[in-house]
Formats: sequence, structure tokens, C-alpha cells
Amino acid sequence: MSNSHFSFSPMSGRQIDQLANSYLSYYQPEALRNPAPFDVHRFVDTKLEDLTGVVPVYSRDLPPEIYGLTDSSENRLEIQETLAEDPFQEKFFRSTLAHEAGHCIIHVPQLRKINRGHVFRQAKEDGAEGGVKLYRKDDIPLYCNPEWQAFRFAGALLIPEGPLRMMLASNASTSEIADTFNIHPAFLRSRMKALKLT
Ligand SMILES: [Zn+2]
Repeated sequence: MSNSHFSFSPMSGRQIDQLANSYLSYYQPEALRNPAPFDVHRFVDTKLEDLTGVVPVYSRDLPPEIYGLTDSSENRLEIQETLAEDPFQEKFFRSTLAHEAGHCIIHVPQLRKINRGHVFRQAKEDGAEGGVKLYRKDDIPLYCNPEWQAFRFAGALLIPEGPLRMMLASNASTSEIADTFNIHPAFLRSRMKALKLT
């Protein structure tokens, strides 16, 4: 599909944070009160289909450079099975799941409404900004960019602002904070940048 005649609804970072918080407060409210890892694996496996109609699948058939893929017309979220099974990549696996959950929650309903399909791919070369560069800079404003939105959602789901501020106030180091939320330090740095905490 071409993106030329359709743009996703604009959302501010704050709106996306509030959306993620609404899921946290429902599924794991203590994650909003104290620094702790959100169980995004369980969330995707047990809640995502009921919430969005999208079925998560762990696949061996994805090309090796694709970590995750959300296909809105097939109502399918595919995650690279080798990533899911590699204990050394757990942190990256968690942020991949959270990013794809963002597409399922924010973008799939919008596509359904206009009866259009789209495939979101999270590929190796996308880097920390969640694939924003897949789009030419002048194509769409950042706040309408589905990759930016999904990346922001993932950060908000895995690193809620309140508990993050608590840890910063107690002078915890970057690696202590990253370990507490069970995320990659680079992912934490992007989140802090998004919240203007650096
Ligand atoms: Zn994406």
C-alpha cells in the first residue's frame, strides 16, 4: 500500500504516555507506583488479541533481519521466534513486543475503520528510533508518524514516567534503572530524551 493518501491521527507524546498508562493501570497497576518491569510478554500473549483482534504468533518464517511485523489486514503480529527464545536478547525482545503492541493498539483500529491494510515491519537497520527513517522526512510530520508513535508507546509502557523519576531522584545509575525496568540502556536513554530528562 502507498502511504500517500492516508496519514495516521496525530498524537502528542503526552497523549501516548497517557494511553500506555491506562493499560498499565488496568493490567499491572503497581508498575505505575514503583519502578518494576512491566510483563509485556504476558500482556501480548494473553490480552492483545482480546483488546485488538490481532493474534500474536512466534514465527520461524520471518526473514532474519525482521524482528517483528504487524499485518493489519491479516490481524497478525509476528515475532521472530529466535528473538523470543534467546535469553541474552530478552530486553530487546521486550521492547520489540511493546513497539508492535503500539501498532496493534494505535494503528490497526484506524486502518480497519477505512478498510485499509498495512504491514509494519521492525527491521535490524531501524535502530533506536524505531524505524522512523523508513519514511522520508518530508513525507509525514513526526507526530503522525506511526513508527514514532509506536516507539513512544513502547517507551511509555516499559518505562512509565513516575517510577522513572523516582529512580532518578534516588540517584540510580543508568544501568541500575535499565536493569530495574528490564530494558536496554539505549532504550532508556531514548525514553529520557523523549521526556526531556537528560
Ligand atoms: Zn514499527
